[in-house]
Amino acid sequence: MSFESLGLIEPLLKAVAETGYTTPTPIQKQAIPAVIAGGDLLAGAQTGTGKTAGFTLPLLHKLSTTPPPVTQGKRAIRALILTPPRELAAQVEESVRVYGKYLPIKSMVMFGGVGMGPQLSGLRNGIDVLVATPGRLLDHHQQGNLDLSKIEFFVLDEADRMLDMGFIHDIKKVLAILPAKKQSLLFSATFSDEIKALAERLLNSPQVIEVARRNTTAETIAQKVHPVGRDKKKDLLAHLIKENNWHQVLVFTRMKHGANRLVEFLEKEGITAMAIHGNKSQSARTRALSEFKTGELQVLVATDIAARGIDIDQLPHVVNFELPNVPEDYVHRIGRTGRAGAEGEAVSWCAWTKTASWPTSRN
Ligand code: AMP
Repeated sequence: MSFESLGLIEPLLKAVAETGYTTPTPIQKQAIPAVIAGGDLLAGAQTGTGKTAGFTLPLLHKLSTTPPPVTQGKRAIRALILTPPRELAAQVEESVRVYGKYLPIKSMVMFGGVGMGPQLSGLRNGIDVLVATPGRLLDHHQQGNLDLSKIEFFVLDEADRMLDMGFIHDIKKVLAILPAKKQSLLFSATFSDEIKALAERLLNSPQVIEVARRNTTAETIAQKVHPVGRDKKKDLLAHLIKENNWHQVLVFTRMKHGANRLVEFLEKEGITAMAIHGNKSQSARTRALSEFKTGELQVLVATDIAARGIDIDQLPHVVNFELPNVPEDYVHRIGRTGRAGAEGEAVSWCAWTKTASWPTSRN
């Protein structure tokens, strides 16, 4: 199946062709026609399945093929994409730009931790598509900077993660200020009762599509466990990186200071590494991510929340330096490799003392 057969308009097909994608991924095959047809959508898809294009492409298609709302000269915000955290919001907006490059559609990203000024002038200039994290969106709304009354399309991306991050109240506040009549899409990697309740509240007779089995990981990821004593974890990591010539490794730690200590150790070993976590400034995080993407940086050490949604094409190695607290986090972490059919490897360090709550017991 080709992108042409999904019914997308020519400027979008041209932009897709330039990215080099020839075949839609399973989520794209299902979501694109469903969104174009209208109606709400509940999509079970984890990061790495191509879900961003799955909602961005039909959204841009619909914005281009339906008349804009009548306003006094200025563009009205017609589509809102809510997604956490900042890095992912920036990546989603980049996708909107990439796919919409041959369309007269303006987009903007809005997140916290940076000044409000540039966002304010962006809003004043007028935009069609807004990608935002919930907190900053509400800040702007409370200050009267934002008119959401003309929203026709609403996407709640990474809904499960947003709830994990404690955004449920913010999401409810956002839902309350959006117009009742709109097309809504909810994407979530996992389906908890809370997600189901949110879906019931937001969606109107949604079409349900699911591409990966619930709470499972992509089959292209080789998953390995290394039993290792706590005091040997760092050495094992350095050894594997050097021995196997790993050039791009995303390492997860649970704590911020643990991430910093690991970076110091790796640097002493002659391995380039940086950490991203909540205590790092936005500019430090952006720099680390871009150096990691270009390959200047061999190792990126991240905590779960900071690493959320990091999108790197064909990331070959993910290391769980410490196991996450809950299985869903494991699914999210290793979802950063083996994307869109590429092969990846996820390795978990497992200290015996930590195995009690995991199904990797020795029996
Ligand atoms: P996502 O699940 O949206 O985070 O996308 C995962 C990765 O798949 C991204 O790096 C995309 O650039 C890539 N991707 C998206 N659609 C396709 C496609 N049709 N073919 C190949 N790669 C794709």
